[in-house]
Amino acid sequence: MTARVLVVDDNIANIKLLESRLRAEYFEVITANSGFEALEICGHEHADVVLLDVMMPGMDGFEVCRRLKADPKTQIIPVVMVTALDQPSDRIRGLEAGADDFLTKPVNDTALITRVKNLARVKQLTDELMIRITSTDQGGGGTELISGLGSNEIRGKLLLVEDRPATADRIKSVLEDQHDVQIAVSEEVAQGLLGKEDIDLVLVSLDMDGHDALHFCSHIRSLGKTRHLPIMVLSEEGDEDRMLRALDLGVNDFIERPVDRNELLARVRTQIKRRRFSEYIYKRLDERVEQASRDALTGMYNRRHLEEQLQGMISDSFDTDKGLSIIMADIDFFKSVNDNYGHDNGDQVIRQFSARILQNIRRLDMAFRIGGEEFLIVLPKTNAKRAELVGERLRAIIEDTPFKISEGDGNITVTASIGLTSVVSEKDTMNSLMKRVDDALYEAKKGGRNQVVIKAA
Ligand code: GH3
Ligand code: MG
Ligand code: MG
Repeated sequence: MTARVLVVDDNIANIKLLESRLRAEYFEVITANSGFEALEICGHEHADVVLLDVMMPGMDGFEVCRRLKADPKTQIIPVVMVTALDQPSDRIRGLEAGADDFLTKPVNDTALITRVKNLARVKQLTDELMIRITSTDQGGGGTELISGLGSNEIRGKLLLVEDRPATADRIKSVLEDQHDVQIAVSEEVAQGLLGKEDIDLVLVSLDMDGHDALHFCSHIRSLGKTRHLPIMVLSEEGDEDRMLRALDLGVNDFIERPVDRNELLARVRTQIKRRRFSEYIYKRLDERVEQASRDALTGMYNRRHLEEQLQGMISDSFDTDKGLSIIMADIDFFKSVNDNYGHDNGDQVIRQFSARILQNIRRLDMAFRIGGEEFLIVLPKTNAKRAELVGERLRAIIEDTPFKISEGDGNITVTASIGLTSVVSEKDTMNSLMKRVDDALYEAKKGGRNQVVIKAA
């Protein structure tokens, strides 16, 4: 993986040192000598991770971090604070400024590379998703959401995996004002809870008796349901080896004992915010996929979706052996509706027409708008005889109730012609069925419209 890292320090020697270590691991490095320069670069150039010195003249690292996190354009760039001393108060200030992680000078090589890799991976994944959700939006989609996450009111569902009851209670008492905390005293209990609840973050103690916590973390990462679930580990002070292995396994963050109350709260909050952010992104992606298969005027599935679905539904019908029928409906003389009442009223008729169809089919059936005033309904597990009843019912519900329009007396009678066919053999394909149903519809039109015609084979 290659990523672009911005190193910010007022001391040139420090910059050189970090730069050479990062370059040795094939990271691309850009540098800034002051907070102002760092902000300038982040505003105009691409960076995957920022390594930010805390103590700088002019604008210190905390302020730079605050500004980066306050600007929707730079908010998602992970920031690692580099502190001269391992001062808990500096850490808290950094976390409150929105920093994603810390390194203490002199910087440990392994810690540096592991964290930069970890954060860059998250950033690049996020970038990819953001491109996918904003590419056809009018832009700004991501922006509004991140600003919305600025509040500290984000309440998460946490699962604490710790087999020492007293320790577990102590940690729970720190977090329970702000979050809902459940305790699991063993891996088995944890698995059970993860299986049935929507947990936002798992906190795993690395020092359980008789439980291999690292194994548990990698197990969570390997299961489909929890693959993206944030994990934070609680490690003994100085147990760097295991902590680094945990990060390598994809653990998102860690905190050392004795646990500092504020640091714990701040780190948990950061993880929950990220979680909300990625949930939002995935939801938007789902909506995009959904939208692409819908017709804008009626909300019905579109022709494209029909082409993706129909062959599969036909094949399923061979397996269940319960048949499958399709109905094609076309509004009669629709051109004259447009001509007499205008295009907008025509649209209203199309909307009401599709609403009537949707209200009168089963949940199992699928309806598609495949042309201007042409619709297709797929009826799984339905033979020709049953489908004919459905076709006749649909024809009647169109004819029997006039359609509302905003012209004249506000009501017009509309009829539809309906063609119908069913799967007759395993030789049937999407094309053969579409051809038959089209022929059936043509006959219904030719035969005088407002009627149902079946074409069995
Ligand atoms: P037939 O009984 O033979 O089906 O006659 P028809 O007039 O319904 O059929 P034709 O295919 O000649 O005309 C369909 C018309 O539907 C033409 C087109 O302008 C109109 N149309 C297609 N899409 C829309 C739409 O989204 N909104 C409106 N208002 N009209 C549409
Ligand atoms: Mg028509
Ligand atoms: Mg037509």
